[in-house]
Amino acid sequence: MPTIRALQLLADREAALVEREAPAPPGPDEVQLRVRAVGLNHIDVWGFRGMAFAKRQYPLTVGAEAAAEVIATGPGVTGLTVGDRVVPYSALTCGVCKSCRQGRDNLCEAVAGVRGFHVDGFAQDIVNHPARLVVKVPAGVDLRDAVCVPVAYATVEHMLFDNARLEPGEWVLVHAGGSGIGSIAIRIAKSIGCTVITTVGSADKAAKASALGADHVINYREDRFEGVVRKLTGKKGVDVVFEHTGADTWNGSLLSMKRGGRLVTCGATSGPSGSINLMQLFQQQYRIIGSFGAPLSALHRALERIAGGVRPVIDTVYGLAEFRAGLERLAQRDVFGKIIVEL
Ligand SMILES: [Zn+2]
Repeated sequence: MPTIRALQLLADREAALVEREAPAPPGPDEVQLRVRAVGLNHIDVWGFRGMAFAKRQYPLTVGAEAAAEVIATGPGVTGLTVGDRVVPYSALTCGVCKSCRQGRDNLCEAVAGVRGFHVDGFAQDIVNHPARLVVKVPAGVDLRDAVCVPVAYATVEHMLFDNARLEPGEWVLVHAGGSGIGSIAIRIAKSIGCTVITTVGSADKAAKASALGADHVINYREDRFEGVVRKLTGKKGVDVVFEHTGADTWNGSLLSMKRGGRLVTCGATSGPSGSINLMQLFQQQYRIIGSFGAPLSALHRALERIAGGVRPVIDTVYGLAEFRAGLERLAQRDVFGKIIVEL
């Protein structure tokens, strides 16, 4: 009986590298993938700690974000062949509801779960996946860059363009410029000619954020970022705030926006609650947009953007057995860019 390696959660906070039976050949409309790398994200940290409200069963193979090669195709699969390099979409969407048919995959009304969080994920040598939920990686794009796409890069793409409608020449405030998504947001915004202000928590990260192209870097441990933003923008404020830090920055983020500004958020790593002055909300005509995941179209656009040279920032590459060390590094925010685990 052929076996494969899989990194599984056996209980909350208990992960182990196990040998398990290799998957059966791919079924109708499925492809079989040889996973080459998985990317780590905060969803993995939450998953590792365990969330009471998440419906799932242990053991659970981790890994929500992956890059892989097609090694077999099931009956009925067209447009994909053995040897294709791909990234799989993390959520098992239904493909037939109104949202799916409209290309709004991340609003699927009958999603079966996110792989690596609710159901078995990609941190295993071989995995089967629906063919309609994989996206080909363009020639010239390294799989180490491609693996950052399904969760991180595509989320940023969706936030900045589908949701915040960022345009060339605008001012954007990117929180936590050293994070996986923050560093990608800086690179994308600069690549289209925006002026970027970013916040970081150390002098070391400030230097790295400047090197990435950020026009203004604020160490939030030394300065109140909203005061600096107002000064830099001649008291007007920025056009777009890229939020994902939550409680610690929420009020300052609102104060950093110009009239008619757009705040887009996909996370709350510092805490889930914030307040808002409703007078400020309507008088300033703010638009506050929640964003979670990305549609498949954003994965395509992200890969094209990388092919064009706007690459993600890689912090560290680990081996599969070091997955836990990578998670700890991410949880402690001791990173600049993305953490990748190669199989
Ligand atoms: Zn659906």
